[in-house]
Amino acid sequence: MSAAVTSGGGLPLEFARLLIDWQRLHGRSGLPWQNTRDPYRVWLSEVMLQQTQVSTVLSYFHRFLERFPTVEVLAEASADEVMALWAGLGYYSRARNLHRCAQAVVAEHGGVFPSNASALQTLPGIGASTAAAIAAFCHGERVSIVDGNVRRVLSRLLAFDGDLAQTAAQRKLWDLAQALLPAEPLPDDMTAYTQGLMDLGATLCLRSRPQCERCPVQPICRAHASSTVSNYPVKTRAVKRRHESWWLLLLRGAAAAGGERIWLVRRPSTGIWASLYCPPVFDSEAALIDALPTPWREGLRELEPVAHSLTHRELRLHPRLLVLDTAGPGPVGLDGAWVDAEALHSHGLPAPVRVLLGSWLKSLPP
Ligand code: SF4
Repeated sequence: MSAAVTSGGGLPLEFARLLIDWQRLHGRSGLPWQNTRDPYRVWLSEVMLQQTQVSTVLSYFHRFLERFPTVEVLAEASADEVMALWAGLGYYSRARNLHRCAQAVVAEHGGVFPSNASALQTLPGIGASTAAAIAAFCHGERVSIVDGNVRRVLSRLLAFDGDLAQTAAQRKLWDLAQALLPAEPLPDDMTAYTQGLMDLGATLCLRSRPQCERCPVQPICRAHASSTVSNYPVKTRAVKRRHESWWLLLLRGAAAAGGERIWLVRRPSTGIWASLYCPPVFDSEAALIDALPTPWREGLRELEPVAHSLTHRELRLHPRLLVLDTAGPGPVGLDGAWVDAEALHSHGLPAPVRVLLGSWLKSLPP
């Protein structure tokens, strides 16, 4: 049974009050993107935090701000530089959209982010929840974030049994989320409320083993009252993952001026690891061997396969290492170019490739 929630009293008032009080006392505080109404910082953190944990985001957030202190500086940077700084965070479409969004803010809005959620949503890579977070944190707008964590919290709180694989149920939950917002809040209330929703989903109302005994809204949580927490959220369509194998040619050579170099090719602008730099990829070992001149083939060494999970795919990477002693040209007919080991840090590399290139990359940031 879906919960009936109306604005103006009852559960909404109680929920907002409990959540705000708890957040101010026990919620997360002191993160570098908190206690600011600067849309640039809030936007940057929100994009980085999509699908990525706070502990991972922290160092990237600092590095980005150091290199791109304003939206104008980010807009002027090259796409390669943005991708290189993003490398390791995954979900690279976020980085491409981040760059495009910065350019749109500068070109279309004079370098100032729009101040309301509906206008923010017209920008590249800013969805409804990110727009709501920016508008609520920076301008106190009464608009609710509804990301995956928040859907889980609210569906349990309300014992909402709509199938969240369906757009209609998502819309319904969004309406319910709006009805739960604090009535006529001060901007500070919206900050604490929005942060409270995030904190509750990230620290207590966890996907498995939710900490109901410590939860501030337990007295009004309908799933808890009916001992049905594990039934929510309802989502019928499981993500289907495809399994795929890739053979990677790790071609290492000597640089003319001493030192080492590696053969890298830029990935296509769409698909897995789009626009990042990567050793040549083949869909079979035979295809990899065929791409090499016959005299080189004997030196090919098999390295341990590496498993790498993506949202819709399970990749099995089969690295093959070939070390060339001379500083000659690269393989004829193979796309790509030599990159000196010292220059790898300025190339956006997918996380598993950074691991595979191990010893050369020790000096690079994680
Ligand atoms: Fe989630 Fe439990 Fe809190 Fe309900 S009581 S909101 S299920 S943590």
